[in-house]
Amino acid sequence: MPNSTQQFASDNYAGICPEAWAAMAAANVGHVPAYGEDGWTARASDAFRELFRTNCDVFFAFNGTAANSLALASLCQSYHSVICSSTAHVETDECGAPEFFSNGSKLLVAATKSGKLTAEAVRTLAASRSDIHFPKPRAVTITQPTETGQVYSIDEIQALSATCRDLGLRLHMDGARFANACAALGCEPADISWKAGVDVLCFGGTKNGMAVGEAVLYFDNSLAEGFDYRCKQAGQLASKMRFLAAPWVEMLSSGAWLRNAAHANACARRLADQVSGLRGCELMFPVDANSVFIRAPEQSLQALRQRGWRFYTFIGGGARFMFAWDSDPVRVDALASDLRAILGTKADPMSINMP
Ligand SMILES: *Cc1c(COP(=O)(O)O)cnc(C)c1O
Repeated sequence: MPNSTQQFASDNYAGICPEAWAAMAAANVGHVPAYGEDGWTARASDAFRELFRTNCDVFFAFNGTAANSLALASLCQSYHSVICSSTAHVETDECGAPEFFSNGSKLLVAATKSGKLTAEAVRTLAASRSDIHFPKPRAVTITQPTETGQVYSIDEIQALSATCRDLGLRLHMDGARFANACAALGCEPADISWKAGVDVLCFGGTKNGMAVGEAVLYFDNSLAEGFDYRCKQAGQLASKMRFLAAPWVEMLSSGAWLRNAAHANACARRLADQVSGLRGCELMFPVDANSVFIRAPEQSLQALRQRGWRFYTFIGGGARFMFAWDSDPVRVDALASDLRAILGTKADPMSINMP
């Protein structure tokens, strides 16, 4: 199988979508001021303020690890702590960057059943210690949608933020796939961010179809003070900023951000619908966004690999399939067909209830 054949191992396997590509080309004309002093960066920032219908402060970073880490660092002193889910990217996939950039703010990990944080889990963890020997809880971070593809409802986010306000905690959202959550809920971006009590949002561009780049949005402007210096110090201030910013202008104004996400979500649904109920496999998580996690015997996963499919099993041992802006429904169906061939036919719904 040639290497260019479409795989669903990661949404980052996809290339750059036409809108982002065209915007890079459009920005590649003539000379403009560097370090974000250009018109593209101003327009991209305004486009975010328009999309979110609020006067947020907007910054651009190269990747999600930096965006999350620096945003959390801006909320904390070194003696503070950040409450997150045990499956949170900041905990499992950022190599300690949040602790590093905050000079030591500790992540407090809540064991949650579904990977979603709850107000109750936050309250329990925040109340577990209040003495001077333990880092003082200062922030909560949630991932929308979660690493396993579940979407927090508006009500769930509101409940979390109410608890945060009650306990004097700030609420950060890792939105590496924020667009997929908006598409899944059919809501306005504001509804699951500042209107629901989120203080800082990292809005992912890379997994949405851009080459590179995440936006950091501060809805509480006072928290953004000095964030520009923080980005520069961390090596996250792009000198040719227009190439991070221009794609956002086009992604947001054309609606590609939402179209791309809706397409990726639909492909996940397409796979899930075809494999749910197959004998010998199980969907590990509800399919709310653009991922499908399949639990199946190791020999079946091995057979799937032998048919040329690539996937990761680092979460719970199941096979993870992620869909992107360009996922080809024909390939999705081919994957479903291989799964059917390996796992057998659909279980007869009548026989399931039989003793
Ligand atoms: C991909 C991802 C990020 C960002 O990762 P980078 O590789 O640093 O860009 C952040 N959070 C979540 C949940 C992700 O899936």
